[in-house]
Amino acid sequence: MTDKTIAFIGLGIMGAPMAAHLVRAGYVVTGHDHKDAAIAALAKAGGGGAATIADAVADADVVITMLPDSSDVESAALDQDGIYRNAHPGALHIDCSTIRPDAAAALARHAAEHQIAAVDAPVSGGQGGAQQAALSIMVGGTPDEFARAQPILGALGSTVAHVGGHGAGQTVKAANQLIVAGHIELLAEALTFLRAHAVDIDAALQVLAGGLAGSTVLSRKAPGMLARDFTPGFRIDLHHKDMGIVTAAARQAGVIIPLGAHVAQLVASVKAQGNGGLDHSALLLAVEHLSGLQTQPGGRL
Ligand code: NAD
Repeated sequence: MTDKTIAFIGLGIMGAPMAAHLVRAGYVVTGHDHKDAAIAALAKAGGGGAATIADAVADADVVITMLPDSSDVESAALDQDGIYRNAHPGALHIDCSTIRPDAAAALARHAAEHQIAAVDAPVSGGQGGAQQAALSIMVGGTPDEFARAQPILGALGSTVAHVGGHGAGQTVKAANQLIVAGHIELLAEALTFLRAHAVDIDAALQVLAGGLAGSTVLSRKAPGMLARDFTPGFRIDLHHKDMGIVTAAARQAGVIIPLGAHVAQLVASVKAQGNGGLDHSALLLAVEHLSGLQTQPGGRL
């Protein structure tokens, strides 16, 4: 193992299990998060903790960020006490957060000014994928950077693909989020439709899952939607951010995504109703609201 020490910044729903997997894989992992409890949880899993980003990255061969939004990663990377001014030249920054493709490309340019290599490596597979080290990871960077990041990412995911230069990983992730939001919306509409016709929903979902309508979204999200359990998972707030990323990137490319734009508005509506902290399967609440059904989280359909 050439890279042995890893600083892991952002120990939330995704970062916490990812950092713990790296400890199990034999890396020396130092975690940092705004929340002390998150650092304490990594310590229990065998990792170390640091009170600041500067301290976390000082001895790191590799720095991984798993933060909410573009501005969070930019500040963690570029601030005076951030990654690029405090990690040693030759370090590799792997950003696993979902951020704007143009922001990822700009970060790689800033990193290079400090002799730091940087790749964007956003992930798909959700909390379950992070817990089982079964994420799908899309990497943007040079072939050499990808080769260096690959063994580390291989400890976190079952599918790790080099999809192009800096920012390309984020472009693929934006497409992923477009597809997932669209699937969840149609699943929510189908569940509401089935309920209105009073069919046996469990049997209906079983047969739908076995045909062309079957999907990972259906098998992972339908049980929670039926139980009206919208515990995140992946928060509506984050999917709202991602729909902003994909609609802006599509506009930039002159590509028209009418259904995506529509679903972006529905995600925004769930957030505007005060439900941004719920799982993205809470798109069901928007569909029910539009259908005049008075529903709340909790209680079975
Ligand atoms: P989260 O909110 O659970 O975790 C983010 C963590 O970062 C929190 O613990 C927070 O305290 C910490 N944090 C924020 N700013 C910080 C800073 N400046 N310094 C230190 N710590 C800071 O979010 P998450 O669900 O783990 O998602 C993280 C990223 O991964 C997001 O970009 C999201 O879009 C993406 N993602 C999430 C999922 C999912 O299912 N949750 C799946 C794929 C990708």
